[in-house]
Amino acid sequence: MPKSKTQNPETLSFEADVAKLLHMMVHSVYSDKDVFLRELISNAADACEKLRYEAVAQPELLGEQGLQITVSIDPDQNRLSIEDNGIGMSRADLVEHLGTIARSGTKAFMEKIEAAQKGEDASLIGQFGVGFYSAFMVSDSVDVLTRRAGSDEAWKWSSDGKGSYTIAPLPLAEAPAHGTRVVLHLMEDAKDYTTRYRLETIIRNQSGHVPVPIQLREKPDAEASPLTDGAALWTRNKNDISTEDYKEFYHNVSGQYDEPVITTHYRAEGRQEYTVLTFVPSSRPFDLFDTERKGRIKLYVKRVFITDEAEIVPRYLRFVRGLVDSSDLPLNVSREMIQESPVLAAIKRGVTSRVLSELEKCAEHDNETFKGIWDNFGPVIKEGLYEDFERRDALLKLVRFRTTHSTAQDRTLKAYVEGLKENQTAIYYLVGDDAKRLESSPHLEGFRARGIEVLLLTDPVDSFWVTSGLSYEGKPLKSVTQGAADLSLIPLLEPKKEETPESAKETADLVVLFKDSLGEAVSDVRVSDRLTESAVCLVAADQGLDRQLEKILAGAGRLPKATKPILEINPDHALIKSLLKEGASKPQLRQDAIHLLFTEALILDGERPEDPRLFSEQLARVLAAGLGR
Ligand code: ADP
Repeated sequence: MPKSKTQNPETLSFEADVAKLLHMMVHSVYSDKDVFLRELISNAADACEKLRYEAVAQPELLGEQGLQITVSIDPDQNRLSIEDNGIGMSRADLVEHLGTIARSGTKAFMEKIEAAQKGEDASLIGQFGVGFYSAFMVSDSVDVLTRRAGSDEAWKWSSDGKGSYTIAPLPLAEAPAHGTRVVLHLMEDAKDYTTRYRLETIIRNQSGHVPVPIQLREKPDAEASPLTDGAALWTRNKNDISTEDYKEFYHNVSGQYDEPVITTHYRAEGRQEYTVLTFVPSSRPFDLFDTERKGRIKLYVKRVFITDEAEIVPRYLRFVRGLVDSSDLPLNVSREMIQESPVLAAIKRGVTSRVLSELEKCAEHDNETFKGIWDNFGPVIKEGLYEDFERRDALLKLVRFRTTHSTAQDRTLKAYVEGLKENQTAIYYLVGDDAKRLESSPHLEGFRARGIEVLLLTDPVDSFWVTSGLSYEGKPLKSVTQGAADLSLIPLLEPKKEETPESAKETADLVVLFKDSLGEAVSDVRVSDRLTESAVCLVAADQGLDRQLEKILAGAGRLPKATKPILEINPDHALIKSLLKEGASKPQLRQDAIHLLFTEALILDGERPEDPRLFSEQLARVLAAGLGR
């Protein structure tokens, strides 16, 4: 008989990450253990929604009874079970889903837990669900009895959560007709969860708007009594829904347990009819920057859940949660076909525009809230600047910056442009990875001396969108490290002395001197409008890439080698002046000093001396000469 080898329970090990997560869970990550119930109910509801979808093509799968979640208490045995008549699991499903971790954010989540256990901030952890495994927070052991809808096999999965689990075939008479029963053998100190009142309160609070009805059975032989109606909240009139209702619904639909900061609920009418209920969260999910992470707005058709992979909004709005329920899409075609539908394309456009306009409204009227949204999701929204040309203008209205005029991340391009200086034709920015360091960059001196505001960009994404040919109100974006800065046309706040013909000649000589000394190390040397306090800095060629971007690309192997920089010198700097005056009699010293200045410019740019040994020799010689005077 082919099944003989599975007649006895088979013992399997959890994937290493599961074992680790379970260990953390049991050792009390959550102070609020009630969350296990919302996780199991949410899984049960998902399973029902999956069956509802499959039953569109195969109605016989549903059976007589409507979809339902039943929570049953057995106080004598100290047991609690959560049962659904949803899709159920095959043996392969059990191994795949209850033995491994599929969630993309779990790794980041576990790192957070570890940090919290070492005493770091733990406040965020409770805001993220941990799924099925949370059952082990309150149970000594857990059994999962399950039968996949349409299958003639049933299985029992059991585990004490300590590294392994067993799977055995289950006689059909002991299994649900279809669906899953999760039986929790409660810990002694979790007895509380066998009292009706307590369970009722938790379920109503946490799962009141799960779109599948929930009933409660008080003891093994009792009739189950209805607890929630499973009505689809989004189909109700806005005026009948409280903020609390929305919040609880958001928790269930997103699996995130923070407060939503923007809730948008509306019905689109006209060519396409659909209902939208979306939420902007108040905190970052752990997998926000995961490359696999996509939008997770759920797609329903006539209240039947179809998929959460329809990518209703573009990737740069992937933090928005919620659902869309369409009355126009056909139910009886495959998910893949739905994806191709022009109706869905129209819905995507509609929802995306609405999300952006809600963000814009918030930005205009509620600075404080928008600031929170921007701090959390700004780096993601900025991806849209180079991914979504069509909506660039809308996005440019949202973008907020830290600048040389404001350390808070709150300057808009509109405000920037309003403050343009006389003859200023560009919007200037500086890219790097640390705002403090950027602020002390010598590149900014000439801009400060003219009162010109510079955007300080420190998100990794910034290097990319700034080079995508962007302009705002006809003003192109320009890096302060790039090309001749055109600053000479913009008046200084404090005018400097006119240059005499002699000093112009001296400066020209100096440039030649630097060029001769540095040779191939630089592509050019020139006098700077950028510098007022520092002696030197490096800049990129006029038409070249921004220096920061060039470094990133070269580092990633996407450029053969970064191009040679241009060295700019400040002829008014005391050091440069004395190089000219006194250096003539000490050629070696002058040579060393020029090389040291070049290395200083490299270091200021976040690089290392090319030849550390040579660098220290030069330094030693210059110091010795200085001290020996
Ligand atoms: P998540 O629900 O976020 O995917 P879980 O750890 O809670 O993570 O569950 C893992 C997977 O196990 C689910 O995605 C689902 O495929 C399966 N699963 C859990 N509970 C049930 C259930 N009651 N019925 C069917 N499948 C389930």
